[in-house]
Amino acid sequence: MKGVTVTMDEMFDVLIIGSGVVGSAVARELSRYSLKIGVLEKEPDVCCGTSARNSGVLHAGFNNKPGSLMARFCVEGNRGFDEVARELDIPYKRTGKLVVGFTPTDRERLLAMKETGDKNGVPGLEIVDRNRINKLAPAVRGEFALWSPSTAILDPFQYTLGLAENAALNGVRFFFNNEVTGLEFSDGIYHAKTTKATYRSRWVVNCAGLGSAKISAMLGMGEYTIHPCRGEYFVLDPKIGPLLPLPAYPIPNPAEGGLGIHVTPTVDGNVLIGPSSEYIDGDDDYSCTQQAMDLLIKGGSKILPAIKREHFIRNFAGIRPKLTSESEGGFRDFVIERRPEAPHAVNLVGIESPGLTAALPIAGEVIRLMQQVETFSPNHGFNPVRKGITPFRNKTPEQQAELIKENPDYGEIVCRCETITKAEVLAAIRNPLGVDTVTGIKYRCRTMMGRCQGGYCQTRVAELIMQESHKTPEEVLYSREGSYQFTGTVR
Ligand SMILES: Cc1cc2nc3c(=O)[nH]c(=O)nc-3n(C[C@H](O)[C@H](O)[C@H](O)COP(=O)(O)OP(=O)(O)OC[C@H]3O[C@@H](n4cnc5c(N)ncnc54)[C@H](O)[C@@H]3O)c2cc1C
Repeated sequence: MKGVTVTMDEMFDVLIIGSGVVGSAVARELSRYSLKIGVLEKEPDVCCGTSARNSGVLHAGFNNKPGSLMARFCVEGNRGFDEVARELDIPYKRTGKLVVGFTPTDRERLLAMKETGDKNGVPGLEIVDRNRINKLAPAVRGEFALWSPSTAILDPFQYTLGLAENAALNGVRFFFNNEVTGLEFSDGIYHAKTTKATYRSRWVVNCAGLGSAKISAMLGMGEYTIHPCRGEYFVLDPKIGPLLPLPAYPIPNPAEGGLGIHVTPTVDGNVLIGPSSEYIDGDDDYSCTQQAMDLLIKGGSKILPAIKREHFIRNFAGIRPKLTSESEGGFRDFVIERRPEAPHAVNLVGIESPGLTAALPIAGEVIRLMQQVETFSPNHGFNPVRKGITPFRNKTPEQQAELIKENPDYGEIVCRCETITKAEVLAAIRNPLGVDTVTGIKYRCRTMMGRCQGGYCQTRVAELIMQESHKTPEEVLYSREGSYQFTGTVR
């Protein structure tokens, strides 16, 4: 699959623009049908936008307005997750979640959230007292809390990757480094012009996240504006992980435009504090600011006082694709539409939180809208199962010995901080999407993610990429096109 190309006379049934979690879910669900599908992505890999930069929480659905698409698809996405996680072999944990309160006003707001959740069909919501908080998460502070047992944590990259790889294994083709710059419709065919080529298709699905208003305008629906709203995070050392078995949130302040600064464990044992909430001008400004960092420490410590500066490893930011500006505020639902001005296009705009949780039901809705126009015949060869990379580090010594016996490459450690073996790195390089950048391998198997952030393993990973992809050192890319790491030998 490496270096997927398209020929001039090729015609697709569906072109999906964007391979975040939503585009990948649409690709995977459409591959259940006998269709020729392509995904056009401006970045060199899947999950390079908002889908990689969030809290990684599988929401339950008590924060969303009853009757909205957000509420419906969040609850459905949460309910169906066990099955899809099994099929795609991806890590997640049904941890449950606490929303903590301290004052009588807080209690009223928690009761209102519970009522919203009950209306939306969220199972098992309860208001619990301090004793119960102590049992569920002893290090978390709060006088009382809303307890949501169905909330879970997941690895957003692994989820998106699972969907995309499963789509690829079922015949979908991914075209990376292809930014869509124009769309023309003539004689029933879309011509999607990208920075690399022109692709032809009968259908287009706009899953471009922060770029979705631009694609929407190319489709003739120019009334949308995306207002980027940045959320910054701290990543904490796994040392503090055992203190936080579940996500703990404050009561959201609607004026702040998010769910508030919370603390949440990751499936890999780190802890995240965040996100802040700040409207910004550009949609690719991922910088982290001292001001937001100070705010995070204050907000996070209120819920988890055990946090210390020595636990901080690094920070990152995500950007919410909001349909309302800072001054407008208020609620705007997901836009998922097929309109007369573009009858063979499905337009998705403003897919902000809970878009990660809701991705599969959103894909279901896209297909429902398409099937109003045309009935798709099933792909009888569709296989919903995808196997992930078997991790070495969380196995028992007996299981590790067994793995090494089966494959001696499990006996060679490439990343010391995270205990990632050569076998895992090689499996990552042999991925079905044909991605062989250093960061592509990092996100697939966790090399370079530990304390030393690649000081030890980065060159070793580059060497394995060279070996597997038959590349010279000068050809190995760090991430984007042009991000060369080596210019030649020293001696
Ligand atoms: C701070 C923060 C916290 C969040 N926390 C959660 C959470 O805990 N749980 C939850 O359920 N949701 C959460 N969300 C929301 C969730 O992350 C998003 O709703 C979801 O990731 C959106 O996915 P997407 O595929 O629509 O967008 P993206 O992941 O942004 O994907 C869009 C893709 O389109 C590509 N693209 C754009 N323009 C073009 C073009 N012209 N040509 C080709 N490709 C293009 C981009 O490169 C990108 O890869 C959070 C969001 C933020 C910002």
